Amino acid sequence: MTLRQLRDIYVSRLVDLYPENEIVSIFKIVCEDLLYMSKSDIMIRGEEPLSHLKEEILLRSLETLLAGTPVQHITGIGHFYDHEFKVNEHTLIPRQETEELVQWILDDHKGKQINSILDIGTGSGCIGVSLGNAFAKANSLKSSTKIILLDLSKNALQVAASNAEAISPEVNFELIHQDILATEKLEPFDIIVSNPPYVRELEKPELHKNVLDFDPEMALFVENEDPLVFYRKILELAKDHNNPLVYFEINQYLSKEMKQLAIQLDYKHELRKDLNGNWRMMKCWK
Ligand code: GLN
Repeated sequence: MTLRQLRDIYVSRLVDLYPENEIVSIFKIVCEDLLYMSKSDIMIRGEEPLSHLKEEILLRSLETLLAGTPVQHITGIGHFYDHEFKVNEHTLIPRQETEELVQWILDDHKGKQINSILDIGTGSGCIGVSLGNAFAKANSLKSSTKIILLDLSKNALQVAASNAEAISPEVNFELIHQDILATEKLEPFDIIVSNPPYVRELEKPELHKNVLDFDPEMALFVENEDPLVFYRKILELAKDHNNPLVYFEINQYLSKEMKQLAIQLDYKHELRKDLNGNWRMMKCWK
């Protein structure tokens, strides 16, 4: 079979699970990450017959996709901010919206020197590691700069450690196993960033089956009664720091509540929408 024929099989069989353009993207990801094809190969070599092995890999991946498995769990890779992050069942698959948060932080710090960054609930490490890598490339890091990747899950920290080492070995990352909700005091950082769990039980029906079945619950869900628990705790911990600067990814339905929280804790703030037009990010400072 040719690549094009296989692509058509993917489209016709996955049509009930994903929109067509997403199926084509998924197909390309499988070709890139499992067949090691370049983007241009995928375009140019559509009519050439595939080797038996390659055909086998594509068909087997299709069966796994049909069972609802996200493509990132088949390839073990999440693409985020130009890097390949290892992901597994212990980490949230990196999202595009979160790339926009990283970009905001980088834009705010062009030409500045960074002493310290704390990424709370780091998961695969995608935020902290991407920041470390980009700041290092921009010569914004000192030899003493430390970037702390903190998570409650030891399994996630192992993934973050391996991503940090693979993507940015020259940066000084520190991995900390800690429950932020049980933390009483926090040393100051130049930048604190967090994408904490923020999905409420009542929003569960909105999530795609493969998010519900494959992303770790502890990375997604927060109690209905107090969905801002992580944000409040982090802002309280940073409240007495000299110049606290905190960036959050937020629940699109809770931007008003986030605003109130910032005002209540005496922070200035800015909210931003993501490319889908949803309130998704917030910056807090004094
Ligand atoms: N944005 C994620 C989702 O839609 C949720 C991430 C989170 O809870 N921090 O599934």
